[in-house]
Amino acid sequence: MVRVKETTCPICGGNLKYYDSVKRIVRSKGRSTKWVYIRRLRCCGCNTLHRELPDYIFPYKQYEAEVIKGVLSGVITSDTLGYEDYPCEMTMFRWRNSQNLQSLL
Ligand SMILES: [Zn+2]
Repeated sequence: MVRVKETTCPICGGNLKYYDSVKRIVRSKGRSTKWVYIRRLRCCGCNTLHRELPDYIFPYKQYEAEVIKGVLSGVITSDTLGYEDYPCEMTMFRWRNSQNLQSLL
């Protein structure tokens, strides 16, 4: 998993070369979804495939970063208009207790 425009492998420091692109669905506010293309890069040193992730996509999360930040900072709760049942209470609970997510903010 690397950031866009990253050119070195986070594992071995080797050069990353374009490998292919994969489609990925992103869920957004108001229940809308959109497909985005994620580029995969292969390391010339250790041959590991890395996905290039745009800033608005958090690793393994299908919600936009903006929504996750809103939940973590307390701006968005289950009572917030427009977010009543989205994301669900359990999902928000997991986010608040995820050290990984907290460290990304
Ligand atoms: Zn490597």
